[in-house]
Amino acid sequence: VNGGDVLVVGGGIVGLAVAWRAAQEGLAVTVVDPAPGRGASWAAAGMLAPVTEARAAEAPLTALGLASLRRWPSFADELADEIGVEPACLGLRRDGTLQVAVDEDDLRALDDLRVVYDLLGLPAEPCPVRRCRQLEPLLTPRLCGALLVDGDWQVDPRRVVDALRQALARRGATVLTRAVRRLDVDDALDRCLGVTLDDGTMLRSASVVLAAGAWSATVAGLPEHCRPPVRPVKGEILRLRPGRYPAALRHVVRGSVRGTAVYLVPRDDGELVVGATMEEAGWDTDVRAVAVRDLLWAATELVPAVGELVLHEHVAGLRPATPDNAPVLGPTPVVGLHLATGHHRNGVLLAPLTGDAVVAGVLGRPTPDIASGFSLGRFASPSREDGSMSPAGGAQRAPADLVPGRPAPCCLTPKRSRP
Ligand SMILES: Cc1cc2nc3c(=O)[nH]c(=O)nc-3n(C[C@H](O)[C@H](O)[C@H](O)COP(=O)(O)OP(=O)(O)OC[C@H]3O[C@@H](n4cnc5c(N)ncnc54)[C@H](O)[C@@H]3O)c2cc1C
Repeated sequence: VNGGDVLVVGGGIVGLAVAWRAAQEGLAVTVVDPAPGRGASWAAAGMLAPVTEARAAEAPLTALGLASLRRWPSFADELADEIGVEPACLGLRRDGTLQVAVDEDDLRALDDLRVVYDLLGLPAEPCPVRRCRQLEPLLTPRLCGALLVDGDWQVDPRRVVDALRQALARRGATVLTRAVRRLDVDDALDRCLGVTLDDGTMLRSASVVLAAGAWSATVAGLPEHCRPPVRPVKGEILRLRPGRYPAALRHVVRGSVRGTAVYLVPRDDGELVVGATMEEAGWDTDVRAVAVRDLLWAATELVPAVGELVLHEHVAGLRPATPDNAPVLGPTPVVGLHLATGHHRNGVLLAPLTGDAVVAGVLGRPTPDIASGFSLGRFASPSREDGSMSPAGGAQRAPADLVPGRPAPCCLTPKRSRP
């Protein structure tokens, strides 16, 4: 059966963003997923947070996130326009993020964060307690300091996924609610021919994009040298709704309360998303009582009024993690097989840039510079004597200029991948 010009395995936010970009390029697109939009993208809070997610050792990932964030406004405008709704319907909010401290330890942690942000040249300003109260009157009276990160935004991933599906339908793309049983690869030619579905149907396509999130490494038929080193990292998250009392916030509020990291993401309709746990738990997606206890305890330590909200939903999702926490994007050594996976904690943030980068590869155009260090090649370095997998091309190798004492560049460009 003809699977079109591009066949996308996985209809989460990443696969759908790739599919939409491909359809916009005039390509015939098929997406295959037994439950589109119900993977990690269903659980995700939707923070677009390259700054408050930044780690000193992950500067190129931060740069990738910043580049994708810059694409979000036009991505949202274009998507909304295509399906005839207002961009606000996608829940894109640019109110910024407050990273708060409620005791002396937190304050010291904030100082450490500030050093990292300064090192990476990232914008964050100290926000005195009185100003925090003006910005967010519901913050705890114990508040002792905060950083204001204007540039970290949020979007509603469920609405984006829904909009992407509508946009694909309008462009005549097909979304098949089936599972891919295996990739069909001609080993002699080193070429991907298409996929076989769980009902035995063989779909043929010139290009297959593997965007199956945490499941990406498990798809049968995937040649070993193309297997992305992706594993599931469990995250539990809560959705709360106003009860008798609302607890309206404008900003995303983040903090670490005696070691428990928590974020509160307010939506326009009064919903508050409180997340999230991080656990290496294999394929387990049980929702545990202890996660509710820990998340609500930490959230109410920051914003006591959260206790008045109604617990509406508790879900677990599997983040597609890689050894260096960065995505795997672009062509593989097998002709016609492309990867769009491994987005770990940042798949929503990185969806616009991933769509552009992966579709460039499908069309045989150069990968945008900013994404070129994120190919599969970085994990397989024949030149390494110990033979271990490492970010050889350097997606996560800190640029040499990111050392204390040297001026921080304001925009970091990852090193190009090895030839
Ligand atoms: C609790 C939580 C909070 C998060 N918060 C944020 C956040 O605030 N900001 C952010 O940027 N990111 C966040 N993330 C990360 C983000 O959710 C992921 O990076 C992103 O959703 C990955 O998208 P995806 O499309 O690759 O994967 P998924 O959404 O998991 O989609 C993969 C799809 O592949 C399908 N699939 C699997 N196997 C097959 C097969 N054999 N055949 C066909 N289809 C298949 C699945 O059914 C699934 O729909 C969060 C994640 C979690 C769990």
